[in-house]
Amino acid sequence: MKALQYTAIGAPPEVVEIPRPTPGPGQVLLKITAAGACHSDEVIMGLPAELYRLGLPLTLGHEGAGVVHEVGEGVTGVAVGDAVAVYGPWGCGRCHSCAQGKENYCQDAEALGIRPPGLGAPGAMAEYLLVDDARHLVPLDGLDPVTCVSLTDAGLTPYHAIKSSLPRLGAGSTAVVLGVGGLGHVGIQILRAISGARIIALDLTEAKLALAREMGANDTVVSDEGAVAAVRALTAGRGADAVFDFVGVQATVDIAMAVVAMEGEVAIVGIGGGRASVSFIGTPHDASVRSPYWGSRSELIEVFELARRGQIEVEVERFSLDDAARAYERLHAGTLRGRAVIVPGG
Ligand code: NAD
Ligand code: ZN
Ligand code: ZN
Repeated sequence: MKALQYTAIGAPPEVVEIPRPTPGPGQVLLKITAAGACHSDEVIMGLPAELYRLGLPLTLGHEGAGVVHEVGEGVTGVAVGDAVAVYGPWGCGRCHSCAQGKENYCQDAEALGIRPPGLGAPGAMAEYLLVDDARHLVPLDGLDPVTCVSLTDAGLTPYHAIKSSLPRLGAGSTAVVLGVGGLGHVGIQILRAISGARIIALDLTEAKLALAREMGANDTVVSDEGAVAAVRALTAGRGADAVFDFVGVQATVDIAMAVVAMEGEVAIVGIGGGRASVSFIGTPHDASVRSPYWGSRSELIEVFELARRGQIEVEVERFSLDDAARAYERLHAGTLRGRAVIVPGG
């Protein structure tokens, strides 16, 4: 089968021919219908050899959807032909976090060598994907795999970040979204759907700010030296009750910490390496900083419900598997509108 693999440190990913896997006991083989390209893949492919730990070659793709092609011995709950999406942050399924569906915070995954697809285990940018357990599959139930595959990360990650900030996001509150890319453009819609917050979105280009307004942002601000003053002015000096940094570089973390209100919350979601400093004098009273990762199984079901009810929609640009490396070039250039989705044979 064809797969898009990261084969050597610093090299662009390439399409290679590899054997099609066979599902062992408990495993499920999907024929992939769609796979999303995340900025995290780009972060990983930018790591120097001494920091890269995911093994080579690595089949990319941690956002996957497909049709059940073959099931291993003992698999129940899914049948050949079912259209499903993959819950990506695989955990052990047994620890205290996993028992709550929070496999993203599995306490034993690392020790057990359990890695998400595309982030250690072979990923979804291939014709077929081996899934370790049927509990990691969520039925699409009529949702389009191409427009919904990215809900598994670009939807789930902002949903998880926003949901825990909801107590601060009632009527009259303000939320700031930094970065209107794959995660950010869905994050704005989620804020519209589940919170009472007024939304201020920041990005670098007018095209991204226009996308933010289309997605439901009330105000947009160019993310430059004037950004902090602009956000403060829009909030009569108070600042934002919650700031979602979907970039995470030093420039955006600095803006986040400078615009958060007293008792507000900063969620650093982006893996840009920026650091926040907190001190009694320099931080608004009782403000807090979090670094949420992906989301839980039950949250993914909730995200799919939002899509089914038409409350959120992912903007996608389609690429064939042969052309998948170009999706990453566009991601790198910052010219994508929404998410790049690879459609094998498409
Ligand atoms: P993306 O490339 O689709 O979007 C990033 C956006 O940020 C782009 O619109 C870009 O123009 C904008 N941007 C860049 N610099 C900026 C700046 N200084 N100010 C404002 N905007 C700026 O990326 P994505 O796939 O949405 O991922 C966003 C980040 O979240 C990445 O760092 C990714 O690795 C990370 N991520 C984290 C998790 C998690 O669980 N914490 C999950 C998925 C992705
Ligand atoms: Zn991701
Ligand atoms: Zn676990």
